[in-house]
Amino acid sequence: MDKEIRFNRPVILGNEIEYIKESILEGQISGNGKFTKKCHSYFEDKYGFKKCLLTTSCTDALEMAAILCEIKPGDEVIAPSYTFVSTVNAFILRGAKIVFCDSRSDHPCIDEGKIKELITTKTKAIVVVHYAGVACDMDEVMDIANENKLFVIEDAAQAIDSYYTGRDGIKKPLGSIGQLAAFSFHETKNIISGEGGMLVVNDERFEKRAEIIWEKGTNRSAFFKGEVDKYGWVDIGSSFLPSEIIAAFLYAQLENLEQIQNKRKVIWNRYYEGLKSLDEQGKLRLANIPEFSSNNAHMFYVVCKSFKERDSLLSFLKKNQISAVFHYLSLHKSAYHLAGNPLVDLPYSDHHSECLIRLPFYYELRENEIDFIISKIEEFYEC
Ligand SMILES: *Cc1c(COP(=O)(O)O)cnc(C)c1O
Repeated sequence: MDKEIRFNRPVILGNEIEYIKESILEGQISGNGKFTKKCHSYFEDKYGFKKCLLTTSCTDALEMAAILCEIKPGDEVIAPSYTFVSTVNAFILRGAKIVFCDSRSDHPCIDEGKIKELITTKTKAIVVVHYAGVACDMDEVMDIANENKLFVIEDAAQAIDSYYTGRDGIKKPLGSIGQLAAFSFHETKNIISGEGGMLVVNDERFEKRAEIIWEKGTNRSAFFKGEVDKYGWVDIGSSFLPSEIIAAFLYAQLENLEQIQNKRKVIWNRYYEGLKSLDEQGKLRLANIPEFSSNNAHMFYVVCKSFKERDSLLSFLKKNQISAVFHYLSLHKSAYHLAGNPLVDLPYSDHHSECLIRLPFYYELRENEIDFIISKIEEFYEC
Protein backbone atom coordinates (compact mmCIF):
# COMPACT_ATOMS: atom_id res chain seq x y z
CA MET A 1 0.00 0.00 0.00
CA ASP A 2 1.46 3.31 -1.03
CA LYS A 3 -1.12 5.52 0.63
CA GLU A 4 -2.56 5.81 4.08
CA ILE A 5 -5.83 3.96 4.62
CA ARG A 6 -8.06 6.55 6.23
CA PHE A 7 -10.32 5.79 9.14
CA ASN A 8 -13.39 7.33 7.52
CA ARG A 9 -14.49 8.85 4.23
CA PRO A 10 -17.91 10.42 3.81
CA VAL A 11 -20.07 8.55 1.30
CA ILE A 12 -21.81 10.40 -1.52
CA LEU A 13 -23.48 8.28 -4.14
CA GLY A 14 -26.72 9.75 -5.30
CA ASN A 15 -28.54 13.00 -5.81
CA GLU A 16 -26.96 14.90 -2.89
CA ILE A 17 -25.75 17.83 -5.00
CA GLU A 18 -28.78 17.74 -7.30
CA TYR A 19 -31.19 18.04 -4.35
CA ILE A 20 -29.18 20.80 -2.71
CA LYS A 21 -29.35 22.69 -6.01
CA GLU A 22 -33.07 22.04 -6.19
CA SER A 23 -33.68 23.45 -2.72
CA ILE A 24 -31.66 26.55 -3.54
CA LEU A 25 -33.35 27.17 -6.89
CA GLU A 26 -36.81 26.69 -5.38
CA GLY A 27 -36.05 29.48 -2.94
CA GLN A 28 -36.30 27.82 0.46
CA ILE A 29 -33.15 26.88 2.26
CA SER A 30 -34.28 27.56 5.83
CA GLY A 31 -35.70 24.61 7.77
CA ASN A 32 -38.88 22.52 7.71
CA GLY A 33 -39.39 22.68 3.94
CA LYS A 34 -39.92 20.04 1.28
CA PHE A 35 -36.83 17.91 1.94
CA THR A 36 -37.24 17.99 5.71
CA LYS A 37 -40.79 16.69 5.28
CA LYS A 38 -39.62 14.02 2.82
CA CYS A 39 -37.06 12.80 5.36
CA HIS A 40 -39.64 12.76 8.17
CA SER A 41 -42.06 10.71 6.03
CA TYR A 42 -39.31 8.34 4.97
CA PHE A 43 -38.45 7.46 8.57
CA GLU A 44 -42.06 7.34 9.75
CA ASP A 45 -43.03 5.02 6.87
CA LYS A 46 -40.00 2.76 6.84
CA TYR A 47 -39.52 2.29 10.58
CA GLY A 48 -42.96 3.12 11.97
CA PHE A 49 -41.54 5.86 14.20
CA LYS A 50 -44.49 7.86 15.55
CA LYS A 51 -42.99 11.27 14.98
CA CYS A 52 -39.63 12.37 13.60
CA LEU A 53 -37.98 15.77 13.77
CA LEU A 54 -34.69 16.39 11.99
CA THR A 55 -32.17 18.27 14.09
CA THR A 56 -28.76 19.74 13.42
CA SER A 57 -27.13 16.91 15.39
CA CYS A 58 -27.80 13.96 17.63
CA THR A 59 -26.52 16.17 20.43
CA ASP A 60 -29.41 18.57 19.74
CA ALA A 61 -31.91 15.72 19.64
CA LEU A 62 -30.67 14.57 23.06
CA GLU A 63 -31.01 18.11 24.39
CA MET A 64 -34.59 18.18 23.16
CA ALA A 65 -35.19 14.83 24.88
CA ALA A 66 -33.89 16.23 28.17
CA ILE A 67 -36.21 19.24 27.91
CA LEU A 68 -39.19 17.01 27.04
CA CYS A 69 -38.56 14.79 30.08
CA GLU A 70 -38.53 17.99 32.17
CA ILE A 71 -35.20 17.11 33.71
CA LYS A 72 -34.37 19.66 36.43
CA PRO A 73 -31.66 20.24 39.04
CA GLY A 74 -31.64 17.42 41.56
CA ASP A 75 -32.87 14.79 39.12
CA GLU A 76 -30.72 11.75 38.44
CA VAL A 77 -30.20 10.17 35.04
CA ILE A 78 -28.64 6.73 34.61
CA ALA A 79 -26.35 6.33 31.60
CA PRO A 80 -23.38 4.23 30.51
CA SER A 81 -19.93 5.63 31.19
CA TYR A 82 -18.55 4.17 27.98
CA THR A 83 -20.13 6.61 25.50
CA PHE A 84 -19.77 9.93 23.74
CA VAL A 85 -20.11 13.02 25.95
CA SER A 86 -23.34 14.19 24.28
CA THR A 87 -25.23 11.22 25.73
CA VAL A 88 -24.99 12.83 29.17
CA ASN A 89 -24.14 16.46 28.46
CA ALA A 90 -27.70 17.04 27.27
CA PHE A 91 -29.00 16.15 30.75
CA ILE A 92 -26.23 18.02 32.57
CA LEU A 93 -27.40 21.17 30.77
CA ARG A 94 -30.80 20.80 32.50
CA GLY A 95 -29.08 20.40 35.89
CA ALA A 96 -29.24 16.62 36.24
CA LYS A 97 -26.78 14.47 38.12
CA ILE A 98 -25.48 11.60 36.01
CA VAL A 99 -25.27 8.19 37.65
CA PHE A 100 -22.93 6.10 35.53
CA CYS A 101 -23.55 2.43 34.90
CA ASP A 102 -20.95 -0.12 33.83
CA SER A 103 -20.70 -1.86 30.44
CA ARG A 104 -21.30 -5.58 30.07
CA SER A 105 -18.21 -7.74 30.38
CA ASP A 106 -18.74 -9.12 26.88
CA HIS A 107 -20.01 -5.95 25.22
CA PRO A 108 -19.58 -2.16 25.44
CA CYS A 109 -23.35 -1.59 25.92
CA ILE A 110 -24.85 -0.79 29.33
CA ASP A 111 -25.07 -3.79 31.69
CA GLU A 112 -28.84 -4.11 32.07
CA GLY A 113 -28.35 -6.19 35.22
CA LYS A 114 -26.64 -3.30 37.01
CA ILE A 115 -29.24 -0.60 36.37
CA LYS A 116 -31.66 -1.48 39.19
CA GLU A 117 -29.16 -0.96 42.00
CA LEU A 118 -28.51 2.61 40.77
CA ILE A 119 -32.14 3.75 41.01
CA THR A 120 -33.04 6.18 43.80
CA THR A 121 -36.12 8.30 44.50
CA LYS A 122 -34.47 11.03 42.42
CA THR A 123 -33.99 8.94 39.27
CA LYS A 124 -35.94 10.34 36.32
CA ALA A 125 -34.59 8.62 33.22
CA ILE A 126 -32.37 5.91 31.79
CA VAL A 127 -30.33 6.68 28.68
CA VAL A 128 -29.12 3.64 26.77
CA VAL A 129 -26.63 3.65 23.90
CA HIS A 130 -26.91 1.01 21.20
CA TYR A 131 -23.15 0.78 20.76
CA ALA A 132 -22.01 -0.01 17.20
CA GLY A 133 -25.68 -0.30 16.28
CA VAL A 134 -26.01 -3.36 18.49
CA ALA A 135 -29.13 -3.34 20.65
CA CYS A 136 -29.20 -3.17 24.42
CA ASP A 137 -31.60 -5.72 25.88
CA MET A 138 -34.58 -3.41 25.66
CA ASP A 139 -37.13 -5.75 27.28
CA GLU A 140 -34.97 -5.72 30.42
CA VAL A 141 -34.50 -1.95 30.27
CA MET A 142 -38.18 -1.19 29.63
CA ASP A 143 -39.29 -3.50 32.47
CA ILE A 144 -37.01 -1.74 34.95
CA ALA A 145 -38.14 1.66 33.66
CA ASN A 146 -41.84 0.82 33.79
CA GLU A 147 -41.61 -0.62 37.31
CA ASN A 148 -39.95 2.57 38.48
CA LYS A 149 -41.83 5.03 36.25
CA LEU A 150 -38.71 6.24 34.47
CA PHE A 151 -38.30 7.59 30.97
CA VAL A 152 -36.10 5.69 28.54
CA ILE A 153 -34.15 7.61 25.95
CA GLU A 154 -32.35 5.61 23.27
CA ASP A 155 -29.11 7.16 22.09
CA ALA A 156 -29.44 5.56 18.67
CA ALA A 157 -26.71 7.71 17.11
CA GLN A 158 -25.05 4.62 15.65
CA ALA A 159 -28.16 2.50 15.28
CA ILE A 160 -29.87 3.43 12.02
CA ASP A 161 -31.52 0.45 10.34
CA SER A 162 -30.81 -1.90 13.24
CA TYR A 163 -33.36 -4.03 15.09
CA TYR A 164 -34.16 -5.61 18.43
CA THR A 165 -36.15 -8.82 18.72
CA GLY A 166 -37.83 -8.98 22.11
CA ARG A 167 -39.32 -11.85 24.12
CA ASP A 168 -42.50 -11.62 22.09
CA GLY A 169 -40.50 -12.46 18.96
CA ILE A 170 -41.39 -9.17 17.29
CA LYS A 171 -38.57 -7.35 15.51
CA LYS A 172 -38.57 -3.66 16.38
CA PRO A 173 -36.34 -0.97 14.86
CA LEU A 174 -33.93 0.58 17.35
CA GLY A 175 -35.18 4.05 18.13
CA SER A 176 -38.81 2.89 18.32
CA ILE A 177 -38.74 1.43 21.83
CA GLY A 178 -37.99 4.15 24.40
CA GLN A 179 -40.27 7.17 24.82
CA LEU A 180 -37.67 9.15 22.87
CA ALA A 181 -34.69 8.36 20.67
CA ALA A 182 -31.90 10.33 19.04
CA PHE A 183 -30.09 9.51 15.79
CA SER A 184 -26.96 11.04 14.27
CA PHE A 185 -26.13 11.76 10.65
CA HIS A 186 -22.62 13.00 11.41
CA GLU A 187 -20.24 12.07 8.63
CA THR A 188 -18.81 9.15 10.63
CA LYS A 189 -22.18 7.36 10.77
CA ASN A 190 -23.79 5.04 8.18
CA ILE A 191 -26.16 7.64 6.70
CA ILE A 192 -24.82 11.17 6.74
CA SER A 193 -25.50 14.84 6.15
CA GLY A 194 -22.22 16.30 7.42
CA GLU A 195 -23.65 17.31 10.74
CA GLY A 196 -27.20 16.22 11.38
CA GLY A 197 -29.50 14.26 13.62
CA MET A 198 -33.07 13.37 14.43
CA LEU A 199 -35.35 13.17 17.42
CA VAL A 200 -37.86 10.33 17.39
CA VAL A 201 -40.94 10.76 19.56
CA ASN A 202 -42.60 7.44 20.31
CA ASP A 203 -44.78 8.63 23.18
CA GLU A 204 -47.56 10.79 21.84
CA ARG A 205 -47.70 12.87 25.02
CA PHE A 206 -44.53 14.56 23.78
CA GLU A 207 -45.54 15.17 20.16
CA LYS A 208 -46.93 18.72 20.32
CA ARG A 209 -44.35 20.02 22.75
CA ALA A 210 -41.52 18.52 20.70
CA GLU A 211 -42.55 20.62 17.69
CA ILE A 212 -42.67 23.75 19.83
CA ILE A 213 -39.25 23.21 21.39
CA TRP A 214 -37.91 22.47 17.89
CA GLU A 215 -39.18 25.84 16.61
CA LYS A 216 -37.59 28.08 19.27
CA GLY A 217 -40.48 27.75 21.73
CA THR A 218 -43.10 29.01 19.25
CA ASN A 219 -46.16 27.25 17.87
CA ARG A 220 -45.02 28.05 14.33
CA SER A 221 -45.44 24.45 13.12
CA ALA A 222 -49.06 24.36 14.29
CA PHE A 223 -49.60 27.73 12.59
CA PHE A 224 -48.33 26.44 9.23
CA LYS A 225 -50.54 23.39 9.54
CA GLY A 226 -53.52 25.72 10.07
CA GLU A 227 -54.12 24.46 13.62
CA VAL A 228 -53.83 27.95 15.18
CA ASP A 229 -54.50 31.33 13.56
CA LYS A 230 -51.41 33.11 14.86
CA TYR A 231 -48.12 31.99 16.21
CA GLY A 232 -46.24 33.19 19.24
CA TRP A 233 -43.96 32.32 22.10
CA VAL A 234 -45.50 29.54 24.15
CA ASP A 235 -42.64 27.56 25.76
CA ILE A 236 -38.87 27.27 26.04
CA GLY A 237 -37.03 26.04 22.97
CA SER A 238 -34.13 26.61 20.67
CA SER A 239 -33.19 26.52 17.01
CA PHE A 240 -32.94 22.77 16.69
CA LEU A 241 -34.04 22.36 13.08
CA PRO A 242 -31.54 22.01 10.24
CA SER A 243 -31.60 23.97 6.98
CA GLU A 244 -33.11 22.46 3.85
CA ILE A 245 -29.61 22.13 2.42
CA ILE A 246 -28.81 19.52 5.05
CA ALA A 247 -32.19 17.81 4.65
CA ALA A 248 -31.70 17.69 0.84
CA PHE A 249 -28.34 15.97 1.29
CA LEU A 250 -29.82 13.55 3.80
CA TYR A 251 -32.77 12.67 1.59
CA ALA A 252 -30.43 11.65 -1.23
CA GLN A 253 -28.66 9.35 1.23
CA LEU A 254 -31.93 7.82 2.37
CA GLU A 255 -32.81 6.94 -1.22
CA ASN A 256 -29.61 4.86 -1.22
CA LEU A 257 -29.92 3.45 2.28
CA GLU A 258 -30.24 -0.14 1.18
CA GLN A 259 -27.22 0.04 -1.11
CA ILE A 260 -25.13 1.68 1.60
CA GLN A 261 -26.20 -0.89 4.19
CA ASN A 262 -25.58 -3.87 1.88
CA LYS A 263 -22.09 -2.67 1.07
CA ARG A 264 -21.24 -1.98 4.70
CA LYS A 265 -22.37 -5.49 5.66
CA VAL A 266 -20.06 -6.97 2.99
CA ILE A 267 -17.15 -5.00 4.48
CA TRP A 268 -18.06 -6.04 8.03
CA ASN A 269 -18.28 -9.72 7.07
CA ARG A 270 -14.96 -9.63 5.23
CA TYR A 271 -13.26 -8.26 8.34
CA TYR A 272 -15.05 -10.80 10.51
CA GLU A 273 -14.17 -13.81 8.37
CA GLY A 274 -10.56 -12.63 8.13
CA LEU A 275 -10.08 -12.04 11.84
CA LYS A 276 -12.25 -14.83 13.22
CA SER A 277 -9.36 -17.25 13.72
CA LEU A 278 -7.49 -14.75 15.93
CA ASP A 279 -10.61 -14.56 18.10
CA GLU A 280 -10.84 -18.36 18.18
CA GLN A 281 -7.20 -18.59 19.24
CA GLY A 282 -7.99 -16.17 22.06
CA LYS A 283 -5.59 -13.50 20.79
CA LEU A 284 -8.17 -10.75 20.50
CA ARG A 285 -11.92 -10.44 20.83
CA LEU A 286 -14.34 -9.54 18.02
CA ALA A 287 -17.78 -8.00 18.46
CA ASN A 288 -20.28 -10.20 20.22
CA ILE A 289 -23.71 -9.68 18.68
CA PRO A 290 -26.46 -11.02 20.96
CA GLU A 291 -29.23 -13.07 19.35
CA PHE A 292 -31.79 -10.37 20.05
CA SER A 293 -29.90 -7.80 17.95
CA SER A 294 -29.30 -7.30 14.25
CA ASN A 295 -26.00 -5.92 12.97
CA ASN A 296 -26.18 -2.68 10.99
CA ALA A 297 -22.44 -2.75 10.23
CA HIS A 298 -21.84 0.63 11.81
CA MET A 299 -18.28 -0.13 12.82
CA PHE A 300 -15.75 -2.90 13.07
CA TYR A 301 -13.87 -3.11 16.32
CA VAL A 302 -11.51 -5.51 18.03
CA VAL A 303 -10.79 -5.74 21.76
CA CYS A 304 -7.18 -6.34 22.82
CA LYS A 305 -6.10 -8.01 26.05
CA SER A 306 -4.51 -4.99 27.65
CA PHE A 307 -3.90 -1.28 27.28
CA LYS A 308 -0.26 -1.97 26.46
CA GLU A 309 -1.13 -4.42 23.72
CA ARG A 310 -3.65 -2.01 22.25
CA ASP A 311 -1.07 0.73 22.23
CA SER A 312 1.45 -1.42 20.37
CA LEU A 313 -1.15 -2.63 17.86
CA LEU A 314 -2.23 0.96 17.16
CA SER A 315 1.38 2.04 16.57
CA PHE A 316 2.04 -1.01 14.42
CA LEU A 317 -0.99 -0.22 12.25
CA LYS A 318 0.01 3.43 12.04
CA LYS A 319 3.49 2.45 10.91
CA ASN A 320 1.78 0.51 8.14
CA GLN A 321 -0.29 3.53 7.06
CA ILE A 322 -3.52 2.26 8.62
CA SER A 323 -5.55 4.81 10.60
CA ALA A 324 -7.22 2.83 13.32
CA VAL A 325 -8.53 4.68 16.38
CA PHE A 326 -9.57 4.04 19.93
CA HIS A 327 -12.37 5.89 21.66
CA TYR A 328 -14.43 6.79 24.67
CA LEU A 329 -12.44 7.62 27.71
CA SER A 330 -14.73 6.45 30.52
CA LEU A 331 -16.90 9.45 31.38
CA HIS A 332 -17.00 8.57 35.09
CA LYS A 333 -13.26 9.29 35.14
CA SER A 334 -13.45 12.55 33.17
CA ALA A 335 -12.12 15.74 34.73
CA TYR A 336 -15.57 17.33 34.47
CA HIS A 337 -17.40 14.54 36.28
CA LEU A 338 -14.75 14.02 38.94
CA ALA A 339 -14.80 17.72 39.83
CA GLY A 340 -18.17 17.18 41.54
CA ASN A 341 -18.49 13.44 42.05
CA PRO A 342 -16.59 10.66 43.79
CA LEU A 343 -14.70 8.08 41.76
CA VAL A 344 -16.64 4.85 41.31
CA ASP A 345 -15.37 1.54 39.98
CA LEU A 346 -16.71 0.60 36.54
CA PRO A 347 -14.22 -2.01 35.35
CA TYR A 348 -15.85 -2.95 32.06
CA SER A 349 -16.26 0.62 30.92
CA ASP A 350 -12.54 1.03 31.62
CA HIS A 351 -11.76 -2.25 29.90
CA HIS A 352 -13.36 -1.13 26.63
CA SER A 353 -11.88 2.32 27.01
CA GLU A 354 -8.39 0.83 27.35
CA CYS A 355 -8.54 -2.12 24.96
CA LEU A 356 -10.89 -1.40 22.05
CA ILE A 357 -9.74 -0.41 18.54
CA ARG A 358 -11.94 0.69 15.65
CA LEU A 359 -10.65 -0.31 12.24
CA PRO A 360 -11.07 1.83 9.09
CA PHE A 361 -14.67 1.54 7.94
CA TYR A 362 -16.41 3.36 5.12
CA TYR A 363 -18.43 2.66 2.00
CA GLU A 364 -15.53 2.93 -0.41
CA LEU A 365 -13.08 0.83 1.57
CA ARG A 366 -11.71 -1.67 -0.97
CA GLU A 367 -11.39 -5.42 -0.56
CA ASN A 368 -7.63 -5.34 -1.00
CA GLU A 369 -7.40 -2.67 1.71
CA ILE A 370 -9.44 -4.78 4.12
CA ASP A 371 -7.27 -7.80 3.34
CA PHE A 372 -4.14 -5.72 3.89
CA ILE A 373 -5.43 -4.56 7.29
CA ILE A 374 -6.29 -8.14 8.27
CA SER A 375 -2.84 -9.37 7.19
CA LYS A 376 -1.13 -6.70 9.26
CA ILE A 377 -3.14 -7.59 12.37
CA GLU A 378 -2.22 -11.26 11.81
CA GLU A 379 1.41 -10.27 11.43
CA PHE A 380 1.25 -8.33 14.72
CA TYR A 381 -0.05 -11.35 16.61
CA GLU A 382 2.46 -13.73 15.05
CA CYS A 383 5.45 -12.17 16.72
C1 LIG B 1 -21.96 10.30 17.17
C2 LIG B 1 -22.58 10.10 18.49
C3 LIG B 1 -23.25 11.13 19.16
C4 LIG B 1 -23.24 12.55 18.69
O1 LIG B 1 -23.79 12.74 17.44
P1 LIG B 1 -23.73 14.21 16.79
O2 LIG B 1 -24.69 14.08 15.63
O3 LIG B 1 -22.34 14.43 16.35
O4 LIG B 1 -24.20 15.18 17.79
C5 LIG B 1 -23.89 10.85 20.36
N1 LIG B 1 -23.87 9.62 20.88
C6 LIG B 1 -23.23 8.59 20.27
C7 LIG B 1 -23.26 7.23 20.90
C8 LIG B 1 -22.55 8.80 19.07
O5 LIG B 1 -21.92 7.79 18.48
